Amino acid sequence: MRAWVVSRCAPIDERPLARVERPEPRPTASQVRVRISCCGVCRTDLHLAEGDLPPRRKEVTVGHEIVGRVDAVGDRASRFEIGDRVGVPWLGGTDGTCTFCRRGAENLCLAPRFTGWDVDGGYADACLVDEGYAYRLPESVDDEHAAPLLCAGIIGYRALRRANVPAGGRLGIYGFGGSAHITAQIALHQGLRVHVLTRGAGNRKLAAELGADSVGEATDVPPEPLDGAILFAPAGELVPVALRALDRGGTLAIAGIWLSDIPAINYAAELFEERQVRSVTANTRRDGEEFLALAARFGIRPTTVAYPMASAPEALADLAHGRFSGAAVLHN
Ligand SMILES: [Zn+2]
Ligand SMILES: [Zn+2]
Repeated sequence: MRAWVVSRCAPIDERPLARVERPEPRPTASQVRVRISCCGVCRTDLHLAEGDLPPRRKEVTVGHEIVGRVDAVGDRASRFEIGDRVGVPWLGGTDGTCTFCRRGAENLCLAPRFTGWDVDGGYADACLVDEGYAYRLPESVDDEHAAPLLCAGIIGYRALRRANVPAGGRLGIYGFGGSAHITAQIALHQGLRVHVLTRGAGNRKLAAELGADSVGEATDVPPEPLDGAILFAPAGELVPVALRALDRGGTLAIAGIWLSDIPAINYAAELFEERQVRSVTANTRRDGEEFLALAARFGIRPTTVAYPMASAPEALADLAHGRFSGAAVLHN
């Protein structure tokens, strides 16, 4: 089969990915093999290709928003049948035994396995997944529009909950890419007031089309104080900006897996009066199930840009340079 691999971490314009021929992977006992239809392009793939996130496996195939059909099952795998449509997300495995798993926080597992980092992911013809970590996907969403739900959607949903906005409250969204534009739809359906602060005229246009209550530049002051905010842009310099926009008792959730350094914080203006900063680390399978059910119920539809699988490097370069709004999806 064909697979894109990270041959050497480098800036995306120096083409860190190479397309290689590999034997078809064979499922072990609890795994299923997925014949890949689509794979979403996530900013994490860019961090892995460029080396912001250190490689955990030589020549890994990135990609963790995978939609396809089961075409082989392991000896002890019983959850899916051949032909079933499944989604393969970022969280590819946990030990189930560590102190965090035992208290229901498997997103903090001490020995997690991530798709496209620890195990080969979806920029390929096929991949393996432990059956316990795959999702069934809502029938109402086609493959291309289901793919971005699997990381951008699920992580954004967790970030939204971590931002702790009360019913009817005011949410700020900093940065408006693949994850943010899905999360904004959920928040609007839940009845929150949503203020989007982002660079890029295309991103601001998309935010306005989706019904945001206000749209501004990343460093603008929103029209009202915020109960909660989510920082999606990987830009640490926006942390004090977002904190200043919070009302007393407000919460800033940082959604990304990687962030540039945060400058010094002014305690009186940016943290006192019980403002909080929280990170968001991966997700639990329960987050994923809850989010996919909500996405189906609310009719959430990501804005997607399709690329052929052969153009994976171009899709990543376009993401790096902000050349599209919404989420890129690779098609086999
Ligand atoms: Zn664990
Ligand atoms: Zn991702």
